[in-house]
Amino acid sequence: MKTACWSCGSGLSAGAPFCDACGKVQNPAADVTYFYMFGLPRKLALDTAGLERAFYKLSRKLHPDVYARASEQEQQWSLEQTSLLNDAYRTLKNPITRTEYLLRLEGVEIDQDRSAENGAKKESRVPPDLLEEVFELNMQLEEMRMNQKTGEDDPQLRQDLERAKTQFEGQMADSDSQLQALWANWDAALDAQDEASQSGAKDTMVALLDRRRYVRNLVRDVNEALGA
Ligand SMILES: [Zn+2]
Repeated sequence: MKTACWSCGSGLSAGAPFCDACGKVQNPAADVTYFYMFGLPRKLALDTAGLERAFYKLSRKLHPDVYARASEQEQQWSLEQTSLLNDAYRTLKNPITRTEYLLRLEGVEIDQDRSAENGAKKESRVPPDLLEEVFELNMQLEEMRMNQKTGEDDPQLRQDLERAKTQFEGQMADSDSQLQALWANWDAALDAQDEASQSGAKDTMVALLDRRRYVRNLVRDVNEALGA
């Protein structure tokens, strides 16, 4: 999509923060994507050092000092562009939020808390390979909470929970490396414009993130029970 610079009238891509011809800051486009802000394709394996450099470069160009003598409108736009840029950087630099963001752009609904808020849902969403572990963990957590109410200390139980926590943290680390492999699938499918492979990569990432979120909540529950 093309648009025109409000100041000099040169043609520019919709969503570009600055005009290439006159350098003036532009009104932020409502539908600009975080990838676009950084001139990046919608790929997941990205050079985070390059992202950081681009972020600081754009931040400097948008700094309020630069606009001290500009019109009120330009000051306003520079603030809005800065806030958009900060959100974009924060989201893209983290592997998990980057993946979730891309999936949302691709039309996938990601509900952060669907396994955290509703107890009944949580039960039904236990990943099948974790059923036994989760069953045992829930009993141990229940016992731990009881102990805390009565002031009883059970070193063995505490130890079991610490061990479970370490194990689940290991599973999260595994998910993170698996996710990197899936990025490569997505990026390659995008390059090849292979829709079936793109769709397959999306589904696999969604399942992996669901499982990771579930395990992350387990770690959180154990931490709470241990009083960490
Ligand atoms: Zn211009």
